[in-house]
Amino acid sequence: MLDFDFYSPEEEITLPFYEAHGVRVFVKRDDLIHPYISGNKWRKLKYPLQQARKEKKTLLVTFGGAWSNHLLATACAGAKFGFRTYGFVRGEAVDNPVLKLCRLFGMELHFVERECYKNKEALFSTYFAGSDEAYFIDEGGYGLLAAQGCSEITDELDRVYDHCFCACGTGTTLAGLAKGMHARQWKTVAHGVPVLKGGHFILEEMAKLGVTDTDCINLHVDYHFGGYAKTKPELIKFVQGFTRQTAILIEPTYTGKLFYALHDLIEQKKIARGSTVLVIHSGGLTGLLGMLDRF
Ligand SMILES: *Cc1c(COP(=O)(O)O)cnc(C)c1O
Repeated sequence: MLDFDFYSPEEEITLPFYEAHGVRVFVKRDDLIHPYISGNKWRKLKYPLQQARKEKKTLLVTFGGAWSNHLLATACAGAKFGFRTYGFVRGEAVDNPVLKLCRLFGMELHFVERECYKNKEALFSTYFAGSDEAYFIDEGGYGLLAAQGCSEITDELDRVYDHCFCACGTGTTLAGLAKGMHARQWKTVAHGVPVLKGGHFILEEMAKLGVTDTDCINLHVDYHFGGYAKTKPELIKFVQGFTRQTAILIEPTYTGKLFYALHDLIEQKKIARGSTVLVIHSGGLTGLLGMLDRF
């Protein structure tokens, strides 16, 4: 079996702001799991890769945008666990540091028109029809096996929290968290911060992953800052201040929006005094490579 052991401590963040509002905030350091198979991507790949190995597949085929943390994670995981990797990249051919890293880890990249890119199953069957080597992994790692990997976060926790926060791209991580908490009959509220505009779609994606009971789920759809990978000066300023005060590096695309949302909700007194909060640091720090000009 593939060795997926890792280190992800749970640390308290002691900021005067949290203290002043009587809220204790902890962070699950999934960013420390691996520099390139980062954060939730490690958890999301665990079971799909084991399944691929079981089926004797040798080629991982997946999908992502030009700055995708998932593409990079798959490229590195392929190199680590002995799979070849193939990535369909959305849009016209470009180059950037993340794609360079993907290639360094041995991933073959294939750029596809936005229209074509939409139908991933069709792309897969066009290029890999009849291949008994290729294993399909959806964009962002989305899927049931991936959610199962994310649900294991709840196995590792030292305490039961009142609130748990994560950033949402496909909703797989939030679905996994909700499943893990439900299985343990915790009353923790699972908060998701969609980083794309129109984040309500996350609930549909989670329903497809078997999370239909949304009583304990709270989506905060107004912290996208204009859309995926969009930023505003106040977000950049927040990321700078947070990183400086906590020594925990975050980036504007996912974890910056996540911690910003928590800060804002505390300020608005939507998180009651006396509450404990866990924030999942889902990693993805290579995203900073595309944003350095904003700092
Ligand atoms: C991919 C990614 C997410 C999105 O996770 P989903 O499970 O797709 O919702 C969140 N944070 C970071 C840092 C990511 O790279």
